[in-house]
Amino acid sequence: MTLSFNPDTLELPKGHFIGGRYVPAAGGLAMHRPSDGVAYAECPVAGEDLVDQAVASARRALKESGWSGLRPRERTRALSRWADLIEAEAATLARLEAVASTRPVGHLIDGDIAVTAEQIRFFAEFADKEGGDLVPTDDDNLGMIMTEPYGVVGAITPWNFPVSMAGWKLGPAVAAGNAVVLKPSEMTPFSTLYLAELAVRAGLPAGLVNVVLGDGPTTGNAMTGHPGIAKVSFTGSTAAGAAIMENIARTGIKPMTLELGGKSPQLVFADADLERAAQAIARNILANAGQACVAGSRLIADRRIAERLTAAIVGHMSAIQPGPTWDAASQYSPIISERQIGRIDAIVRRAAATGGECLLGGQQLEREGYFYAPTLIAGVDQSSPAVTEEIFGPVLTLQTFDEEEEALALADHPTYGLAAGVFTRDLSRAVRVTRRLEAGTVWVNRYGRSRDHILPTGGYKSSGIGKDLGREAYIANRRSKSVLINL
Ligand code: NAD
Repeated sequence: MTLSFNPDTLELPKGHFIGGRYVPAAGGLAMHRPSDGVAYAECPVAGEDLVDQAVASARRALKESGWSGLRPRERTRALSRWADLIEAEAATLARLEAVASTRPVGHLIDGDIAVTAEQIRFFAEFADKEGGDLVPTDDDNLGMIMTEPYGVVGAITPWNFPVSMAGWKLGPAVAAGNAVVLKPSEMTPFSTLYLAELAVRAGLPAGLVNVVLGDGPTTGNAMTGHPGIAKVSFTGSTAAGAAIMENIARTGIKPMTLELGGKSPQLVFADADLERAAQAIARNILANAGQACVAGSRLIADRRIAERLTAAIVGHMSAIQPGPTWDAASQYSPIISERQIGRIDAIVRRAAATGGECLLGGQQLEREGYFYAPTLIAGVDQSSPAVTEEIFGPVLTLQTFDEEEEALALADHPTYGLAAGVFTRDLSRAVRVTRRLEAGTVWVNRYGRSRDHILPTGGYKSSGIGKDLGREAYIANRRSKSVLINL
């Protein structure tokens, strides 16, 4: 069976998913397919009443199923069945993801979807392994730290990796005993709806996972300000993260995890394996056409090898073939929207007009849909918007250095600190530089995440607060209670 599909005949889930069933909704925001620009659906926008309904359904599910108080192994078992079903239904999930998003269908089954199923199992396995602590007291007292779930977690996710981002939020929250109300991006809601449907089909209590659709200012705002949502877990832009913090400050303080934007540097020293570095750097900036929070979009290379390195990178970047996301053979993603492709182009043009030299690309591709050419710009300085702004496109800038100290100064971004790459054969340098980089993740002689769910991910500086993945994500979905019993 081929995975390729006809986007005009694909059946799409309709409405929100609340209390274990679809709640039909008419009208909404126009949705355009990134691969051909066709307007093909509308995303409904939930107002306060529907968000209220979803929160009530989550609370009811917790109460009626006793989910938080189950023997933890039972939660593990239920989540494992969900992961199995995600794998069994991977083709449908992949198509629902590919029709709306920038992810080619051929990348999803063994990529995002397989990883999501693995991550759900990974978090499911924490359920009966994390305990509280007894604390030392005198003999007349027993002191302990108990941990408990929050209740209802409100999760909000971006469009760039819809299934993965939903999995990052749902896995640890549900395994830790919470119910969730999740709002996916208004541009890519379908695969998340289907994930929630699969949770019910796998036997998780109806209402434990609810999906409300809508935009940030209406639906997102109603969620983050809702008194029944005990904790907010957000992934998206730094600007939206700031708006969420403000809303939470205004409506009642609650804990939050914020996974935000980045502008990650890749430092290549003269002693690096240049072919390996070129491959990793090109592959990363072209993955999802640069629409990744950790995109290594700032190449900072030793002047002595910069020319050789960029020639190799240009070679790799030129080889990639674009195609619609519904063709299983497509390798290169479109940009999410017309607006975003205009924004990318404006930054590239401004860089070119202020002394930047396009070594490759620099324009939209002449074909249907929103495809942008793989682009490499040299000759930009530290204040150019191409270097300072998160472009979220297939655009790599090149800056050069003579000394390690200069490389570190260039790598330091005033606001972002999500990830960084270091390429060198000198172990001492690798460790020294890693220690000094202000970033939540540093990759050495490679770039990008794979199946290492145990490594938490999150930002320094304005790239975020708290972590997704790893043990930290599970712990972040439980709160601790100090108990002292007089004996
Ligand atoms: P975005 O901030 O525009 O939207 C993200 C989500 O937040 C969407 O569901 C949106 O509807 C919602 N939203 C927007 N404003 C809101 C508000 N005021 N209140 C509540 N919800 C609101 O981001 P995007 O364009 O969908 O995604 C791209 C951004 O996400 C990039 O900045 C990228 O770096 C970031 N991202 C970060 C990570 C990470 O792990 N750090 C991972 C993926 C994406």
